Parts: sequence; structure tokens; C-alpha cells
Amino acid sequence: MAKVRFTETALRDAHQSLLATRMRTRDMVPIAEEMDKVGYFSVEAWGGATFDTCIRYLNDDPWERLRQLKAEFHKTPIQMLLRGQNLVGYKHYPDDIVEKFVEKSYENGVDVFRIFDALNDVRNMEKAIKVAKDQGAHVQGTISYTISPVHTLDNFVELAKDLEALDCDSVAIKDMAGLITPTAAYDLVTKLKEETGLLVDLHCHCTSGMTPISYYAACQAGVDILDTAISPLAWGTSQPPTESMVAALQGTEFDTGLDLKLLTAIKKYFEDIKIKYGSLIDPISESVDTDVLLYQIPGGMLSNLISQLKEQNAMDRYTDVLEEMPRVRKDMGYPPLVTPTSQIVGIQSVMNVLGGERYKTVSNEVKEYMKGMYGKSPAPVDPEISKQIIGDEEVITCRPADLLEPEFDKFKKEGEEKGFVKSDEDALTYVLYPPIAPKFLKGNLVEEDLNPIAPDGEVIIVNEIPNEYNVDVDGDIFNVKILPTGIEIVDDPVTKDPCKEKEGVVLSAMQGTIVKVNVDVGDEVKAGDTICVIEAMKMENDIQAESDGTVDEIFVDVGDSISKEDCLMVIK
Ligand code: MN
Repeated sequence: MAKVRFTETALRDAHQSLLATRMRTRDMVPIAEEMDKVGYFSVEAWGGATFDTCIRYLNDDPWERLRQLKAEFHKTPIQMLLRGQNLVGYKHYPDDIVEKFVEKSYENGVDVFRIFDALNDVRNMEKAIKVAKDQGAHVQGTISYTISPVHTLDNFVELAKDLEALDCDSVAIKDMAGLITPTAAYDLVTKLKEETGLLVDLHCHCTSGMTPISYYAACQAGVDILDTAISPLAWGTSQPPTESMVAALQGTEFDTGLDLKLLTAIKKYFEDIKIKYGSLIDPISESVDTDVLLYQIPGGMLSNLISQLKEQNAMDRYTDVLEEMPRVRKDMGYPPLVTPTSQIVGIQSVMNVLGGERYKTVSNEVKEYMKGMYGKSPAPVDPEISKQIIGDEEVITCRPADLLEPEFDKFKKEGEEKGFVKSDEDALTYVLYPPIAPKFLKGNLVEEDLNPIAPDGEVIIVNEIPNEYNVDVDGDIFNVKILPTGIEIVDDPVTKDPCKEKEGVVLSAMQGTIVKVNVDVGDEVKAGDTICVIEAMKMENDIQAESDGTVDEIFVDVGDSISKEDCLMVIK
């Protein structure tokens, strides 16, 4: 047994878990010099959702963040979380983009690459692993930990062996929902130490409440690295507190040797950060949630789900959705629930419950999944459900990225011609987020406000005034929407109630935005044809004609926001 080392997650996972990933670069840099003195194995400071929020909400260049942190961390390696072939996005990218992204990440300051795949399909990790190794980085392969009838100790160990064969330096057990029990942690770490030569890292969230015990059990099994967060950003859906874990191991054979006094100074800094970002903290993510033990839903996903149900005005179906989720997961061959599968399974469960019929509405992501485009599912998908969703369409068995053409040069050239891409880093930002990157790269993004906190600790909400009211007039309920001035009020289908009386009217099953209208008035359609596409809850959903007929009227256009039960079109 040797001493245990820590990866500090304050600058990535901890604020992703508790502060909606909103910490700014300018709030990280001032404390970096102190953090560099601690002697961590690494600081996790990049990747995951940070890239997305930087350019979507914060007007903060993620590449510049990395360079600024690198200038402060002289002896502590900077670690990033990379979603294998998905990089820091939500879909598979071609190999040339993976290669460029990993090279540039290393060049700008990433020393340790933690690389995972949501399905534990090693083919989706191998390209990123190889490129990172070629740069000379420390590469940490990852086991996305989950519990299911097909996830056994032996197949986790097999995965670790595959990662070792790809030349990884260490392996992380990524327990995103805090599901690992002390015994399971002990057994898995023991086996990994016995059967591989890899350093073993345990990364858990505290969601279920078991994690500190599991961490201690992992120490007893010989774990090399534990992921912790400085105490103000610990607990709940984040990691166990760094200082408490240091104290717990002090004087034992696992003693980390870290200086509690130094950590206390760092803690003070993050206490202020927590107050500054206080309005973002959701009480749900701060508390222990034992629902996760029954439903296996990671904490971050739970709060997403709640906001999506609120958006759909369907909080009364919360328990139904929770119960539907394990069924959808089973139908899909038990994917571990982590980005992007957590979102895909979560949204499908919502649609199955709200749609009144399972898989009546299916997101395009689920269709792609069923076609094998995310990789090999841990168990085969349910053949009946697959048939219902994709019919007899071909299912691929090759590595999904083998089907993708190189794209980097095309995006770079296009971005340069439009004037907003000035470097390879800019081009990568554009490649990863084509809809939102141009605004950011042109300098037109306005940094999101942090809701201020009054002296008595009350959060002053500046952004969340409701824009929709139900007004009761003598017992009749009228739905009133308020729009900002300057927005043209088009015929809102909701007010066009008479349309609902029409024969052949197609009503929206969900609230969302119209992203595509596939038909024109006069077109002949067959039952099952896609007539329009609605984006809801970040997923695209094809809306199909329920019967054969002719399109008689269309009430919506691309870009329209629609509510549940709004009239979309009439098919006669
Ligand atoms: Mn995590």
C-alpha cells in the first residue's frame, strides 16, 4: 500500500455539478498559484460541459482559459474530460477532427486526458487515446460505471485490459451517479490492480450518500488516485470534500501528505465563489438523493429532467417518468447513463410518458442509437422496439466514425471566408458548435448575468419573470403569453382554436421549436411520412402523418415556438 493521491475537481466537475458549469476563467486564475502548491496528482480544469457553456453563456474563450491556467500551474498537471469520439460535443466527429482537437488541447496545456465512451465501446476511444499518447500526454482510459444484468466485474476488467493494450497510463472508474457500493469498489479496484499494471483512479459523485465509504474501501483495495472537490464545492452531486478525505486518511498507510492549512486557504477562496454563484445552486443538487439507488439516474440528469418536465408543464408525471427510465434503458441494451446517453434515455422516457404511448414519438438520437451509430450497446437492443423505431433499416456493426468523412479543412475554410475563424482553435470551436460558435467568435455574445444576492442572502432573480399566465375570468381560463416588444406576433396557433375542430388536424405532442417543415400545402402524404421536425429538450423529433392524405393547411413555420396541443397542420 502506498499513499493515495488526489485529483481536485473544483475547476471542472465540481462547478459543473453544482454551479451549472458557470465558473468564469477570471474566477479560476487568482487561486491557481495556491492550488499549484498543494501537490495534487492533477487538477481537472477543462473539458466536459465547460467548453459548451464558455461559448454559449459566458463569452469566455475555452482555449484562452486553458492557456491562462497553464501559465499558473507549473508543477500540477492539468486534466481534461474527453468524451472519446464525441470530444466535448454530443455526437461522433470524424477522425481528422479528433486528431486536431487532441493535438491542440495538448499544445494549449492539457497534460492528462481522461477519455471515456458512454457505451464503454473501446472503438470510440481508441483514436483519441492514440493521438494523446503520440503527443506524450498521460492518458487515462475510463470505465463508465453502471449497474445492470450485463455489467459484471469481469467485463469491467476486460475493458481495462483493452485500455491497457491501447497504452493507457491509468484507468478511471467513472461513477457518475454515485452508485458504487463500498464492496463493489473494493472488489473492482482489487481486481484491476491484480489484473492490470495500470494506476487506478476512482471518480464518484456523492449523490447516493455512499461515496466516502466507497472511497475508503477503495483505499483498502489499493486505489492510487481519488477525485475530490474542495469542501465549498463538494457533496451533493459533486465529489467528496478534499479536506475531509485528507483528514480521514491522515496517519494511515494511505496518508496523502497534503497540507490541510494550505487547503483551508483555498477553501476560503471557494467559499466566496460559492456565494458569488449562489443563485445557480439548485437545492436538489446539493442534497443526497436516494432515488438514484432505485432509478440509477445521475444527479445532473435529475435536475435536467425536472426542468424539462416543468417546461412541458408535466411535473405531475415525474414519478411515471422515473419509472419509465429503467424500462427505456433496458430496451436500449442497458447503456450507462452519462452524456449523451443520459439525455437520450431521459428525453425518450419523458416522451413515452407524455405521448401516452411508448415510442410513438422518437427522437432522431434514439433512431441513430438503434442503428448502431453510437457504437455497440452493452446488451443487444430489444428487437421488437428496434423494429418499431427503425423498421428494417440497416444496423451498422463497424466503428461509427469509420463512416464519417474528414471535415476540419472544410469548416476552417468556411469560417475563414466568413471572417470569424482566425486560428485552428477557432476552427475547432466552430466545428464543435456550428449553430452557436459564430456569434461567440464574432464577439457578439453577451456574457450572461449572475443573479446578484441581497445582503440578507436572498437571491434577486433578474431573469425569470414568467412569460405565460393563466387568467381566470368568471371561471373561464384564458392562457396569456407575454412577448418582449419588437417581436412580431404571428398568428399563434393556440389562439386559433377553431382549427382544433377541423377534421384531420395534427396537434403537437410537445412544446418546442419547429426546425423543419417537410411538406407544402397540396402534397400527398402517406401514414408514417415525416411532415415536420420539432426540437424539444435538445432532441430533434420527427412528427409523422398518422394517415394517408393531402396537406390542406399548414399553421407553422421554421423557427416557431409551439406549445403542446398546438395545431401544426391539417391533412385531409
Ligand atoms: Mn463526474
